[in-house]
Amino acid sequence: MTYDKMLLRFGEVGLKGKNRAFFIRALAANVRRALKPLGQDFRVSTPYGRIFIDLPGDCDTGAVVDALGKVFGLVSFSPVVQTELTLEAIAHAARQELQADGLPKTFKVAARRSLKTFPLDSMELNRELGGILLQSFPGLKVDLHQPERVVNVEVRPEGAYVFSRVFAGAGGLPVGVSGKGALLLSGGIDSPVAGWMAMKRGISLEAVYFDTPPFTSPRALAKVEKLAGILAQWAPLNLHVVNFTPVQRSIMEHVPEELTITIMRRFMFRVAEALALREGALALITGENVGQVASQTLESLRTINAVVSLPVLRPVVSLDKVEIMDIAEKIGTYSTSIEPHQDCCTLFVPSHPRTKPTVAQATEAERDLDVPALVALALEGTESRKLVGNLSVL
Ligand code: ATP
Ligand code: MG
Repeated sequence: MTYDKMLLRFGEVGLKGKNRAFFIRALAANVRRALKPLGQDFRVSTPYGRIFIDLPGDCDTGAVVDALGKVFGLVSFSPVVQTELTLEAIAHAARQELQADGLPKTFKVAARRSLKTFPLDSMELNRELGGILLQSFPGLKVDLHQPERVVNVEVRPEGAYVFSRVFAGAGGLPVGVSGKGALLLSGGIDSPVAGWMAMKRGISLEAVYFDTPPFTSPRALAKVEKLAGILAQWAPLNLHVVNFTPVQRSIMEHVPEELTITIMRRFMFRVAEALALREGALALITGENVGQVASQTLESLRTINAVVSLPVLRPVVSLDKVEIMDIAEKIGTYSTSIEPHQDCCTLFVPSHPRTKPTVAQATEAERDLDVPALVALALEGTESRKLVGNLSVL
């Protein structure tokens, strides 16, 4: 089966006026970018508030479907055949389309005529085409309420469109329409899922990883790069690798052992906020989850949160571990996340961490640290690169 176009559907709730035009423009741009790796010339157009992609004759529809499945903002999409404006041509396409995934037992035709000069109206088209299909396929039945297959026909001035296959889109909002967020990306299970959920809400990511060589191995960094690459399949992102070793050393030297994790995380937040502001991001995003581990108490979240003023989004805060793992499986990060390379959070865990550290205790524990100088040092030791798909660009 060869198709002429792909018809894309998006959620329209609350989309009015300027917002709608902005949304469609962003979505069309993201669609173009998603199709770029396929290396063909796909024209994306947005006539009368819809999005169409022209499919070149020799294109691999399956590859287009796979690419579109990772574009947030799309609710669903359908490959369509475009025909001349004659009943014969439409019926020919309808016959083909009905058989596209194997002949169903029941069907109905759903026609829409926006070209008022076409000789048959919608009801007449339903009846005529239904009759032709029944004649063509003995045994086939019409079921108006629960048909196995709906053959859609749209009659428009430029031609008729016939389609019946509907692929589910990724939902959410086009990445970029909500602005940028800085994702604290570790090699764990939670933060890649948190990043994916933030992207789904239209946020484009500046991913930040705190690397502590030689305590952590290059394999731990490679794992994070791989996770960032998987997230980048949904939308391009920047990965910032911070050399966190000088900060880590100072903390180990000057901070009471039971508070080292709290202080380390306060520094992560400070550095991430500075990077966020530098990149024009308006929020931090973490994979934190209340109560999952001893350090994730509300007291601890508050004490860590106290050093930043940007909002901190925690998309997985209320999910159970198994729910997070399910999403990780679905988006393809799980098998990488469980590779056994230690990150700083597992490596530097003291034997008796304070589970309910207060702001006053944390401030006191930082007394011998030059906070601004350490943050500046971490920023200096940051390397950034852009990831598009699984490929590192810079
Ligand atoms: P994850 O599975 O995402 O690692 P976690 O349940 O192991 O999360 P923690 O280790 O306490 O929880 O980390 C909480 C959050 O802090 C992580 O989800 C992540 O957003 C951030 N984080 C932790 N370590 C790092 C790191 N080395 N680089 C960047 N962010 C980190
Ligand atoms: Mg972790």
